[in-house]
Amino acid sequence: MWISDNYGFDETDITYQKVSINQLSSDVSQAVVFGMVIAKQDLRRIPNKQQPGSYRYVLNFMIRDTPNDTINAACWGDESATSVLSSSFTIGDVVKIKNPQIIERQSENTDDKFKPKASSQYQLNISPQYSEITVCASDEIKGYEKLLHCAAHTATEILSLADVVYNSQNAEGLTVNLLVAIKEIGQLQTVKTKDGREAKKLQLSVFDQSHPVFPVLIWDAETAKFLIKYCSKRSVVLISDIKVSYNNFMKEMTATSGNTTIFTPEPDIPDARVLYQYAMKVILSEDSMNNTYGYNDPSTVYNVEQVLRIMNTSEMISGDIQGTLIAMISMFDLDGSEKISSIRCPGCLRQVQKLEDRCVNGACEIGSGMSNLPPEEMYDIQLSLADDSGCIQRCLVPGQVFQNLLGLPVQDFLKLPDERKTSIKWLYLFERMTIQFKVAKSSTGNGRSTFRVLFWKKWE
Ligand SMILES: [Zn+2]
Repeated sequence: MWISDNYGFDETDITYQKVSINQLSSDVSQAVVFGMVIAKQDLRRIPNKQQPGSYRYVLNFMIRDTPNDTINAACWGDESATSVLSSSFTIGDVVKIKNPQIIERQSENTDDKFKPKASSQYQLNISPQYSEITVCASDEIKGYEKLLHCAAHTATEILSLADVVYNSQNAEGLTVNLLVAIKEIGQLQTVKTKDGREAKKLQLSVFDQSHPVFPVLIWDAETAKFLIKYCSKRSVVLISDIKVSYNNFMKEMTATSGNTTIFTPEPDIPDARVLYQYAMKVILSEDSMNNTYGYNDPSTVYNVEQVLRIMNTSEMISGDIQGTLIAMISMFDLDGSEKISSIRCPGCLRQVQKLEDRCVNGACEIGSGMSNLPPEEMYDIQLSLADDSGCIQRCLVPGQVFQNLLGLPVQDFLKLPDERKTSIKWLYLFERMTIQFKVAKSSTGNGRSTFRVLFWKKWE
């Protein structure tokens, strides 16, 4: 009897069977697995414990063959074999993996920390000698292409950017899911790491309905190239399992992608369509005609530093800027020696001397005669608002807004005993507030901007 002297890896001897990810088991051999590559890491170099001084190389990637089925694959080998394999396909390709070894995933495997979370209980080991990875031809990819846009099954809870930025103490160090639109894609940069290696770095600037600008850092050439190819300005991206933390160098909260992070461009979830519509409508600052600020959506959340930048800009501001600020009252002199009331025009809040006086501000509807309301004695309290990015001094808070917060008119407040005034002060001093605000060029024509509180309440 004639015995083959090859070991069964010859095409002519073996019938390979196409196996879907959810049918894999350790008993299956001679399998061919098809899938969309949805994550892939740069080739990693690991010191070889058996041969000190030498290295082994590993290529990790993840494929998906249905919206719910994902599996991790790893290829170990020497530098040349693994880098040839790595350069043969990219994220977004549909690949055919012939003859992988199918092994059960160990739940305690520490290596899993370095891979995206997969649905399969198995993983594919790819041998440079015995396995083969090929990019599928166009007639083979039908049905797989849409899998690039399936939301990661782990991305059930999505954090808004405002949650990350304004709740930074709780968000610090967390691995979260973000749904964002792209404002800007930076240049792919080559930087030297601390240990002297060269690394690729890409920075994205992203936004969502809650926050206008947020940095995302990618330290991985594979992922960076994928984003540059598949995304453009205003693209919506679901980012699953990304770490958020305060970046000391950039002095702000940032998200940094890691080995477990998956980017899903134009994800097929309802929230993505809502964000996409918003992203198409919103005026991004650099594409507005004359550098005017495009954000006058009151629901856009700013921090103090951004508000101050708008107030101090020499650029033309067309119209008023409205937005939301979450900040604490850092100065609130309710029980001190300062007077806390004044007589003001209820329209423009300009001060007048006596209740019988009339507003003379031509830009005010009362001053211009379109409306005829008498001046009022109202709360007039020195107040500052602060967050971790800065402090806005001399905030303009209309008397009525104060009255709504404190729950009584200024005339009644003035009659209260001092201890009562102090205890009311401590209900609000150093408390965080949600503030609807308006920034307007001062009507006195001095070029300065005023910050005016339209509505506020304690932050929840
Ligand atoms: Zn007025």
